[in-house]
Amino acid sequence: RAKRRGADRIEIFNPAMRTEEENRLPLESELRMALQRQQISVLYQPITRLASNQLAGFEALMRWDHPTRGRLSPQDFIPLAEESGLIVELGSYVLSQALDEAATWHRVLPRDRDPLFVSVNVSSRQLFRQDMVQEIRLLLAREQVARGTLKLEVTESLVMENPERAVEILTWLKTYGASLALDDFGTGYSSLSYLHRFPFDIIKVDKSLVHDSSDNDQTPLILRSVVTLAHELGKEVVAEGVETQADANYLRSIGCEFGQGFYYGEPMSARDVGALLNALANHRRRKERERAQAE
Ligand code: C2E
Ligand code: MG
Ligand code: MG
Ligand code: MG
Repeated sequence: RAKRRGADRIEIFNPAMRTEEENRLPLESELRMALQRQQISVLYQPITRLASNQLAGFEALMRWDHPTRGRLSPQDFIPLAEESGLIVELGSYVLSQALDEAATWHRVLPRDRDPLFVSVNVSSRQLFRQDMVQEIRLLLAREQVARGTLKLEVTESLVMENPERAVEILTWLKTYGASLALDDFGTGYSSLSYLHRFPFDIIKVDKSLVHDSSDNDQTPLILRSVVTLAHELGKEVVAEGVETQADANYLRSIGCEFGQGFYYGEPMSARDVGALLNALANHRRRKERERAQAE
């Protein structure tokens, strides 16, 4: 597992070795071509409902398969994509791929089960763009997925760029059937006190609060308080960075709804998700047959 994770995160270049400018220009023109060269892929990381241990949905995570640098993770190119504005096109691609995938998942899994959701990260440039609301509306109309299937993840620093406008856009997105998640909670100036101003359905608690390798005594206390407050504000909680069974057990014990992290699964290809869901569907059919035979 460690090996696969490693391969996913190769440090391709040491920023200290080249100046930023030297790196930026060629990389930007390559990124401009990346979509049409089919170098952009979307991975899906499972999100589990803690109480039942049942798969609940996936977060879509972008990768760039660079011809010489290898598979680049978002840290390596999202800042550049933001600066250059290319994030708008890349983001639209991820959105449409992810929703398309979700529609196929719904065809594989039985209907009496809660539909799997797909959670997609949205950047500042995307959210505040003139036609974002329209794009989401059309996308949801095209795919005809159940309400709540599409979750949009935004960070706190993003909404704070322009809180009034953010509230307005987020409210429209919700009207058209997307649900909204506040990503990376606990990393910024996080204050739950203003959270009620934004129409978030879900708080995603950052991995630094969930799996604290420094063994800080206060971390569980802070985590528990965040979960309690979120619930009092009527919001559900996803914990990121669930790496061990102990993490999962603790989160379940404090009533956190969802867990996401290497313990439940790493980001995987759409193909692997398909195989996983087929296995789940087969397993369920087998159980049903066994039950029918026993009667
Ligand atoms: P994020 O939205 O907070 O996504 C969670 C990140 O944590 C992912 O990193 C995921 O691989 C990683 N992760 C998951 N489980 C664990 C765990 O148990 N332990 C640890 N240490 N890490 C875990 P990734 O895929 O490298 O993405 C990094 C960030 O890039 C994302 O953070 C998100 O902010 C951004 N990003 C990814 N895809 C997109 C996209 O399509 N659009 C935009 N705008 N941003 C994206
Ligand atoms: Mg996210
Ligand atoms: Mg996050
Ligand atoms: Mg993060």
